[in-house]
Amino acid sequence: MIKLRIMARLNSLIAPTGNGRSQADAWVVSAPGRVNLIGEHVDYNGGLVLPAAIDRRVVLTAWPLGRGRLRLRSRHAEREVEIDLLQPLQKGEPSWANYIKGVAAGFQRLGITVPGLDVEIDSTVPAGAGLSSSAALEVAVATLLEEVTGCRLDPTEKALLCQRAEHEFAGVPCGIMDQFASVHGREGHALLLDCRDQTFEHIPMSDPAVSLVIFDTKVKHRLAGSAYARRRASCEAAAAALGVETLREATLEQLEAANLDEETHRRARHVITEIARTADAAAALKSGAWAAAGDLMRASHRSLRDDFEVSCPELDFAADTAAVLEGVYGCRMTGGGFGGCVVGLVATEAVGEISDRLSVAYQKHTGIEPAVFLTRPSGGPLVESVPSGHVS
Ligand code: ADP
Ligand code: MG
Repeated sequence: MIKLRIMARLNSLIAPTGNGRSQADAWVVSAPGRVNLIGEHVDYNGGLVLPAAIDRRVVLTAWPLGRGRLRLRSRHAEREVEIDLLQPLQKGEPSWANYIKGVAAGFQRLGITVPGLDVEIDSTVPAGAGLSSSAALEVAVATLLEEVTGCRLDPTEKALLCQRAEHEFAGVPCGIMDQFASVHGREGHALLLDCRDQTFEHIPMSDPAVSLVIFDTKVKHRLAGSAYARRRASCEAAAAALGVETLREATLEQLEAANLDEETHRRARHVITEIARTADAAAALKSGAWAAAGDLMRASHRSLRDDFEVSCPELDFAADTAAVLEGVYGCRMTGGGFGGCVVGLVATEAVGEISDRLSVAYQKHTGIEPAVFLTRPSGGPLVESVPSGHVS
């Protein structure tokens, strides 16, 4: 493993890039995507979430460029983008560059001059699948700018800067989970994050007999953006009706006693029960009680499907099919919903069989070829290399 890494590092250092530049003259940094094990749609309600950074990363390779220009290329986008850093940064087209502009603007706001850079973006985090490629991209850019300027941010401040970039430049009013998971990821650990006060605890999850499997349904329904805003609004309305600041402060008893309309009641019930499930799941993982953690994941899926109504037929089919397979402790949709991925907590020895059976059944049922992969809780941002002679 270590030998492989060193070989990869050596190869990347000596390999000239397409335009003749050597990677020895470049910064290479990366940041992970994340999978949320449980605690869905609760981060913006001040709740508890339990994500893990995954071993899929956005990797940036950057060379110095003349003052005031940021040139961006992504293997996932056709067009190259050039940004004038001497003008106020504004969101625009193409939309993928907004995540990067937003982070650069965050550094400028702190009084840090963003230097000219020529940046190549590569990634193994599928975009738009609920594994937070957007946060991985933002955190990778923040890591690059820290490294190039020598101005290192407090990790939590860094996550918040990236979240603000997503709010203001990408126009996505996300909670804090994704950026926190990417910044604070630790190998062999999940992250129990309290979104009310941003405190967190790393939960060991390194038993080789248990694995995480991610099943990408490859669908993304158009509902996602507007439904997210409506769900947030329902939660805020429920909190206001219950007289609490966020649903984190509410109890099921309070909810049952209140006179909310049926739909708002169900939305709030999901949030309140999901926060309790997340605390229980963290305790179960800590003690290696995989079956108990798995049961909580199944209950989470049902609640997201029936009470919060953010699942879709493809996610339900994958989750229902996986749930009855030998070796699956539990599984659920993960991410915002209306498509994206299912995550399973499974016995490592059964991973191959589970992946095959699930893929075949899903393709037969939906006609869509899914992607399935094994992942493990991984570390946060990495500086892979800096230009020879660079001191920051
Ligand atoms: P998720 O974060 O779940 O993957 P989002 O919709 O929040 O889904 O973010 C996906 C968006 O992030 C993409 O549409 C694109 O704009 C941007 N993005 C992610 N990865 C890359 C990449 N490698 N290159 C360019 N843009 C990317
Ligand atoms: Mg995202």
